Amino acid sequence: ALGYHRVLKDNANLYNALQDLKGNIRVFCRIRPAMESGSRSIIDFKGDDGSLIIIDPLKESKEAYKMFQFNRIFGPNSTQEEVFNDIQPLIRSVMHGYNVCIFSYGQTGSGKTHTMSGPSCGLLKDMGINYMALNDLFQLTQSRTYMGSDGLKLPDANIHLVCSTMDILNLIKLGERNRLDCSTASNNRSSRSHSIWTVHVQGRDTSGNAIRSSLHLVDLAGSQRVDEAEVTGERLKEAQHVNESLSCLGDVLTALARKSSHIPYTNSKLTQILQNSLGGRAKTLMLAHVNPEADHYRETISTMEFMQKVSSVELGAARLNKERCDVLKLKEQVAKLKKEIAKRD
Ligand code: ADP
Ligand code: MG
Repeated sequence: ALGYHRVLKDNANLYNALQDLKGNIRVFCRIRPAMESGSRSIIDFKGDDGSLIIIDPLKESKEAYKMFQFNRIFGPNSTQEEVFNDIQPLIRSVMHGYNVCIFSYGQTGSGKTHTMSGPSCGLLKDMGINYMALNDLFQLTQSRTYMGSDGLKLPDANIHLVCSTMDILNLIKLGERNRLDCSTASNNRSSRSHSIWTVHVQGRDTSGNAIRSSLHLVDLAGSQRVDEAEVTGERLKEAQHVNESLSCLGDVLTALARKSSHIPYTNSKLTQILQNSLGGRAKTLMLAHVNPEADHYRETISTMEFMQKVSSVELGAARLNKERCDVLKLKEQVAKLKKEIAKRD
């Protein structure tokens, strides 16, 4: 089983180089620690080549292995800092004018919220990507005010002006309180809702070019099949709704991969909200979360298959949301002339 690592290594390097060229869609995998210590892991990976194998716990032969390829794999002992370090360049590209969208995907209990928010809100220990990303952006920027205005208008959503890391922490707490968190059979901290953090960035680069971009940090609801959660009534309806929006996300990515003339963004709220960040202009990162235990084999394979679909998407090079300085000056001149003409009339 170990020999395959060496064979794959060259392929993996090539794959990663191609991904860099492609530039705008990446797939990372994070394997959470086993819930029961000492249990045998069904996931085997070496670490630096991005490949992993999943072993079918019910089969013994060679056919029991399924292999998957990622741009980066984080093992069960990975820290929040290690994960963030690999994501930081992507976060920083928002400041250069790219739209960026980061998804946390996986079945309930696989560690999605742990990666995005951290173990518990309000504590500064082990904070997740949401906090570290915003903190990083704050440290990068000199003028410390943003006001967002772009994107789909959501009737119940407010835009908050944030001026400090403390403001963000308070917003995280508010958001988590608002988030629908009810228990299902599969996990008592199951999130049956998607949580989306959007940061709008506006500013000018050192040459005076206007920059306007957005960063979406998305903690998706659990991807497990409805029957496994053993839910009924209202809960069942919600679970079906969640599954529907996740499959819409898959459909959008597939349509993008096929370069279809129609991309079905409007089939779900989720894809509608993220429309600007899922097209050819944006950089997308999918963080697959999996559980290493045999009980979760089926869900782990289904997460891997979704990721495979995602990584086959080729969106073309990401584009900057930048207006060049001279264009801006010309626009200003045109506006001035128009005013003068209006005065004469
Ligand atoms: P999800 O959001 O995918 O449903 P959670 O992030 O809520 O899953 O994780 C379920 C539980 O497992 C939480 O108690 C969380 O703190 C813990 N957990 C998940 N991933 C890790 C990790 N990488 N290290 C330590 N604990 C983790
Ligand atoms: Mg969660």
